Amino acid sequence: MYFEDLSPYYYPVVGGQQLLMIGWLERGHAFPTGEVPAELVAKLRAIERSPYPQQYRCALTRGLHYCHFCKEDDREASNAELFIPDSDVPDRYYATTFLTSHYIEAHRYQPPDAFIRAVLAVDLRRPYDAIVIYDSLLLPPETMRKEYEKKAKDAENERIDIQLTEKQRENFRRGAHLRYRKWLDENPL
Ligand SMILES: [Zn+2]
Repeated sequence: MYFEDLSPYYYPVVGGQQLLMIGWLERGHAFPTGEVPAELVAKLRAIERSPYPQQYRCALTRGLHYCHFCKEDDREASNAELFIPDSDVPDRYYATTFLTSHYIEAHRYQPPDAFIRAVLAVDLRRPYDAIVIYDSLLLPPETMRKEYEKKAKDAENERIDIQLTEKQRENFRRGAHLRYRKWLDENPL
C-alpha cells in the first residue's frame, strides 16, 4: 500500500481527530531522502518494542508487509502499525509501520519534520495505549462504549489458566486485558 506522507488514514476518523500516514512507501513512488537526527532510528525501535502499558503498536495487518526496495531474500517485514501522537497538535496522530525505521536506516528515507519531532518527544515512561487510541479514532463513541463494556466483561470472565502463549501471558501480567475497564472508568457517561 502506498500513501503520500501526511495524507489522511485509509479509514475515516471520527470527531475532530486527525490520523496521518507516514512512511507508506512503495516501488514506483519517489520518496524524500536525507539526513535525520542520529537518535531517530533507535527511538523508533524502542517505540516498536515497548510493551503495554506503553504500547504504540496496533492494527495487526493480515500477513506481513515487506520492504519493496530490498532484495527478495533479506527483506524487512512489518505486521503492525504504530500510532505516534503529535507533539504539538492535540488530537493528531501519525500512522506508520515497523518498516519506517528500516526505510530510514537502509534507504535514507526522510520523514516529515513534524513526525520526527513527535517520535523524539515520545516519553516511553508514560502510559499510552495505541489500541485504545485506534478504537477512539475509528469508532463512534456509542459503539466504542458498547464494545468496551462487552470486552471488559469478557476479560473479567476469561479463565487465564488455559493455553496462553508466552506473549499473551506477559500481556496479561501487565494488565493489558484491563484496558477496556480502564477506559470505561476514565470516560464515564
Ligand atoms: Zn529495505
